[in-house]
Amino acid sequence: VQFKPYLLGEEPAPYPRAVSVQKCLRMVDIDIVGTTARHGSFFEMMGNFSFGDYFKEKAIPWAYEFVTEGLGFDPDRLWFTVHLDDDEAAEIWLDGVGIDPDRLQRRDRDNFWQMGTAGPAGPSSEIFYDKGPEYGEDGGPIVDEERFTEVWNLVFMQYVQDEPYHVVGELPATGIDTGAGLDRLAMVLQGVDSLFEIDLVRPVLAAAEAGTGVTYGDDERSDVGLRILADHGRGLTFLIGDGVVPSNEGRGYVLRRLLRRAVRHAWQLGSSDSITPRLVDATIDVMGDAYPALPIARDGIVEMAEREERRFRRTLESGYSLLDDALDDLPDGGTLSGSVAFKLHDTYGFPVELTDEIAAERGMVLDRAEFDAEMQQQRERARAAWKTTTGVEEAAQVYRDLYDSSGPTEFIGYERVEGPGRVLSIVRDGEPVQEAETGHEVELYVDRTPFYAEAGGQVGDTGWVTTETGRARVVDTQHAIQGLNGHRAKVVEGTIHAGQDATLEVDAGRREKIRKSHTGTHILHWALREVLGTHVRQAGSLVEDGRLRFDFSHFSGLDPDELGEVERVANERVIENARVTTQVMTREEAEDAGALAFFGDKYGDRVRVVDAGGYSVELCGGTHVPTTGQIGPLIVRGESSIGSNLRRVEAYTGGTGYEYLTELRRRLRETADVLRTPPDQLEDAARTLVGRLKDQEERIAAFEAQTRADVAGGLLEAAEEAGEYSLVVADAGTMAPDELRALALQVRERLGSGIAVIGGSRDGKAGLVAAATKDAVQAGVSAGDLLQGVARIVGGGGSRDPELAQAGGPKGDLLADALDEARRVFGEALREA
Ligand code: ATP
Ligand code: MG
Repeated sequence: VQFKPYLLGEEPAPYPRAVSVQKCLRMVDIDIVGTTARHGSFFEMMGNFSFGDYFKEKAIPWAYEFVTEGLGFDPDRLWFTVHLDDDEAAEIWLDGVGIDPDRLQRRDRDNFWQMGTAGPAGPSSEIFYDKGPEYGEDGGPIVDEERFTEVWNLVFMQYVQDEPYHVVGELPATGIDTGAGLDRLAMVLQGVDSLFEIDLVRPVLAAAEAGTGVTYGDDERSDVGLRILADHGRGLTFLIGDGVVPSNEGRGYVLRRLLRRAVRHAWQLGSSDSITPRLVDATIDVMGDAYPALPIARDGIVEMAEREERRFRRTLESGYSLLDDALDDLPDGGTLSGSVAFKLHDTYGFPVELTDEIAAERGMVLDRAEFDAEMQQQRERARAAWKTTTGVEEAAQVYRDLYDSSGPTEFIGYERVEGPGRVLSIVRDGEPVQEAETGHEVELYVDRTPFYAEAGGQVGDTGWVTTETGRARVVDTQHAIQGLNGHRAKVVEGTIHAGQDATLEVDAGRREKIRKSHTGTHILHWALREVLGTHVRQAGSLVEDGRLRFDFSHFSGLDPDELGEVERVANERVIENARVTTQVMTREEAEDAGALAFFGDKYGDRVRVVDAGGYSVELCGGTHVPTTGQIGPLIVRGESSIGSNLRRVEAYTGGTGYEYLTELRRRLRETADVLRTPPDQLEDAARTLVGRLKDQEERIAAFEAQTRADVAGGLLEAAEEAGEYSLVVADAGTMAPDELRALALQVRERLGSGIAVIGGSRDGKAGLVAAATKDAVQAGVSAGDLLQGVARIVGGGGSRDPELAQAGGPKGDLLADALDEARRVFGEALREA
């Protein structure tokens, strides 16, 4: 993937040949992992690459030489495939290398390589190792791919596709891209049956055995689970180690899926304790030497895995009880609905087999067809979503032509904010044009520029482009393709012609503020890691003039103390005023210098390293201030959540930070004025005020309660007899609903046995409360039911509670009528009770 632009010829390759050893996480095999001897979701792959350099004639003999002489594989065990139409590759194998013709097989799609999306493609040739007759039938890889295990795939890059299996052209130059699975090679070299028994994986499998109490080799079904635990344990360790946090989309979702699948299998194998810490530890123990970043991050990885596991185990438990309930509701031998199984699968990660099994144990059958139909629908939804989000944006031809003829834009903006340049091309509405007149909105391309094009979170520059005949306002600068700075501009005077000399001037004040924010972002990043821990990983940033936004991984919200501490240590560094230096070096040198580089960074042979005071060292292409003091105050404005385990901090820098503080001070002073107190005594004044208010509220409440008691006493005197009960119906005047309620309760309490109906009106609206004593309710009188009818007179309704009902309506003027009606119906009901 990282070499795609070189293979497509979109970017010149910085080297004609490359070899790689890299970590791979392959999700396409996820469903079969554990059921074959040769598939993991996590593995390491070695490769050799040619970008317009050597082709098949070299790649094939070299591969053969490496496998037989380098690794010492027995040539009699090797098999080979080529594409149906690839006579050239077949000839190289047969005549050049001299293999036995019986060992060469031809296949169609299996020997054509392509990406899941648009991109380079070509026929491939694969090398297989025969594990021996005890592993399956004879006949080569076209018969059995487990016995004959593919160890190396050589791809001959030749075509361009716009979608899988649809060749639309030839690559500008042919290339080579090969992949040899390290784990599969190790399997052969170590003479073991599967990937799971090689020395890099077996200890993780042992940790899975220890965690579940199940022994590997006892039973094929539990073996599958143990293999999944071993593989997924490795995968999740590396994902978290590379800065991925569990979430519901993108790579975060991949991590979540792996982890949940592992936990679910552990659960099924009977483990009730956390399994992931054991898997992570075992993985780091074996892989730590080759990947030294892992042991350093060990605690953070364990913590994140365990946290996610704990959360998921709760989900599993609730899924299980949902299934339990669903089964309880069924008659013996009943059919469990497929949509329950789908929900369990989708929401709780329950595999349908597990649901099926549990149902069968209880003597029920699962409606498998309904489940399959729901799964099919979900797959279609997923496919539709995938298509719209991964359509690779191919750079428009104009930009590629421009890049081919003049190369990348020379960026002089690290040293200066203005300079001379020549207009190479003007693009208007996606088409190259010769000139742009006043009013035209265009993109200007020049040979060299001080304008920074948006990258690494830093926004693009604005400013002016002036030629002899015209002047244009640059409102933004963006990379048309990597390395080609496009100045989005509007011509405001005269005309600008392609080929003219120009003066380019960046808005220096704005740029200066952006620089402060960018260095400020690095310091903030450092401070967050300092205060919260090194698990903090940058997840994105926005660097603007005067303000910045920094997104990072962290498990929980920051409390004000933590946030304050982050701001404090950051400003300490600002005040210290250390030098900020930039240096271009190789990736290895940068890693040795401890530079922070993250998953997703582009590959490249030279990188730029920004070092502030030796404590903050990051790979960065942005513009920075020369000393940290120039950042000015770094004021944290707030912190928020932007997704699961993802936080965002916003901050102000330089003059903007200062203005923010003076604004806060102004508000403080005004508040102090309102409270008629000096600003330094504001808190005391506010506390006194709140205390006094509370005191008064209590006194008012006590006074109101007394008044209510008096009123209640008065109302009781008006109690009428209704059979064996008493009935009070009264208008309490202007009262809010909660006061009415309190009053009704008070009357009821002193009524002995009966009902109190209290009405009141406020702002033209009527309110009614009816409170019945328990014995009246038991005798069949429902205050709620009766009040419903009464409330209709005032144009409303209310609650139906038999003991205490409340109602209201907009017609306050009809309250008296309503109370008359209440007297009638409540009286009747009580007399009859
Ligand atoms: P298979 O058909 O066996 O699944 P593949 O055709 O998918 O293999 P490639 O995509 O050609 O494999 O990948 C290149 C090499 O990477 C393979 O030759 C193999 O050595 C290794 N490899 C591929 N998939 C896996 C996997 N899931 N686990 C371990 N190694 C793998
Ligand atoms: Mg495969």
